[in-house]
Amino acid sequence: MRIAIFGAGSIGCLFGGLLSKDNEVLLIGRKPQVRASTTMKGFEPELVMVTVKSYDTEGAAKALGPHLGKEGFVMSLQNGLDNLEKLTPVAGDRLLAGLTSHGVTFVDFGIIKHAGIGDTVVGDVAGEGRDMAREIADLLTDAGLITRISTDMRLEIWLKAAINAGINPATAITSLKNGALLVQKELTKLLELAASEAAAVAMARGVELDPELAIEKAKEVASLTADNKSSMLQDIERCKRTEIESICGAIVRYGEKANVETPVNRALLALVKGIESTYQD
Ligand code: NAP
Repeated sequence: MRIAIFGAGSIGCLFGGLLSKDNEVLLIGRKPQVRASTTMKGFEPELVMVTVKSYDTEGAAKALGPHLGKEGFVMSLQNGLDNLEKLTPVAGDRLLAGLTSHGVTFVDFGIIKHAGIGDTVVGDVAGEGRDMAREIADLLTDAGLITRISTDMRLEIWLKAAINAGINPATAITSLKNGALLVQKELTKLLELAASEAAAVAMARGVELDPELAIEKAKEVASLTADNKSSMLQDIERCKRTEIESICGAIVRYGEKANVETPVNRALLALVKGIESTYQD
């Protein structure tokens, strides 16, 4: 398959690198990661995987727009709740979603570390992509990235966001590793409240995410990754922008639309943005 990976960062390089063994892959990134500017001119992708951070999705959509043929599919492989609505204007019915729990870190330009093996899930979101989702799952699995199909990607995305809301901001603010959230009871309560608020907003939007399940899964992930620093904590430590706006920010925004109160996510959003505002240029 001809695949363009938009965002030659940690996840994009892992997926692009492994897929390139059996597929024609174009990695699109910024200098100096790709050491030369890459454009999609002349490359007609059957699939574009979007692997930029959620705050860059709008920019990615704008850049992609003119290069997408009528036959091409677009798949978000990102965390966050608002990527699909940003990609819909350019992808329409040919939009797919993916989530992955592989852990990848940037080491140096051109070098990434595959720090944790996880699973990946893909599915269509707008009806046209069911067969393509199956094909992608097979390609990824053949490339060594075990992938399952989901028939309800909205639920998967909301569950992942609830887990992220429960773990990421609390660890980013306290500089604690994930497991610490299960040790101190006040932090465990914070995790529970943030995850269950996310589930309440999901339910109000017609996504059947049980708050108890969201809490249980957030605790399970915190336990399984007890010794890890969350990606948001790593971003804060490197003075990098976080994806807080697409996690807690989106929970707050969607909550407002659905008249669901989200005071905990609102507070976590404010605190993480406050930390970001202390970065020096
Ligand atoms: P990342 O390392 O920052 O990679 C994103 C890359 O996209 C960066 O190299 C960035 O360049 C590039 N980019 C952004 N806008 C671009 C544009 N308009 N044109 C060309 N390149 C552009 O981020 P990541 O860790 O791979 O994460 C990507 C997504 O995957 C996030 O939503 C994240 O939550 C999710 N995810 C990551 C992991 C992980 O372990 N890393 C695991 C699961 C899910 P600049 O740096 O120059 O902006």
